[in-house]
Amino acid sequence: MAALQRAVGNQAVQRLLVQRKEGAHKEINLEEDPVQRLILRAVDPTFPVARPAPKRSNSDASTTKVKEQTFGGNVVKDDAAGVFKYKLTDFTSNGEIQLVYYTNDHYPAPAPEDDTGPLSNVTKGNWRAVAKNLHDNRTGIADDWSAYAAEPLHENYHWNTEWVNTFTPEFRKAETKLENLKAPIKQSGWFGKKKPDLTQGEAEAKLKPRADKIVADMVKTAKKNYFKLGDSPGDPPYIAQAPAVDALENRVRTYGPTL
Ligand SMILES: [Zn+2]
Repeated sequence: MAALQRAVGNQAVQRLLVQRKEGAHKEINLEEDPVQRLILRAVDPTFPVARPAPKRSNSDASTTKVKEQTFGGNVVKDDAAGVFKYKLTDFTSNGEIQLVYYTNDHYPAPAPEDDTGPLSNVTKGNWRAVAKNLHDNRTGIADDWSAYAAEPLHENYHWNTEWVNTFTPEFRKAETKLENLKAPIKQSGWFGKKKPDLTQGEAEAKLKPRADKIVADMVKTAKKNYFKLGDSPGDPPYIAQAPAVDALENRVRTYGPTL
């Protein structure tokens, strides 16, 4: 990112110098920080995630899915540079998190679905076993007992940390490639014959498929990197769920001796 910021910062400085030389933009604010200009210029992808109502199953797992990627871009004519360029305007990376909870009998506090309700499944006879069972599987797959809040912590980690952090660097690389897409306005003809200038429509027909390909390749690489990340007991998504299990274990350990 620093290198990109520097590169685009330098471009911004060069643009300032050119503009000053040409006297075209006398109003330009020379105090403006070029790096700030970059941040304003760059497209920040958004990562909305759909969350359908949780389901119940003792065999199916919660899932986090990478869904469709949508983006917009314009082909713009840069007369000064003599080219048409591609300008990305927005990028949305959609996801879906489907939480799947076990049946009620696997939760010390069965309702509501956040471990804050009465510990009605905890008894004088089972509280030690419940606490130990939670503890033993705190960074693994739940056994007899589970915490509701572990599910969103685990799935949110897949999306907010793993997907966002593998996607974003690939997106930045693609953004640079998109910025470099160009089609010359002047076309050289054969054997001295003049060819008319490239039209907006022709420029779009040239540049848009190339932009689509850059984005498709980028998404493919990001997905490949994402699916390489470990998702077994003890791996980061499981570690991310542990605070919910620990909090519930503590509730049970505090409550048990009062029974
Ligand atoms: Zn997982």
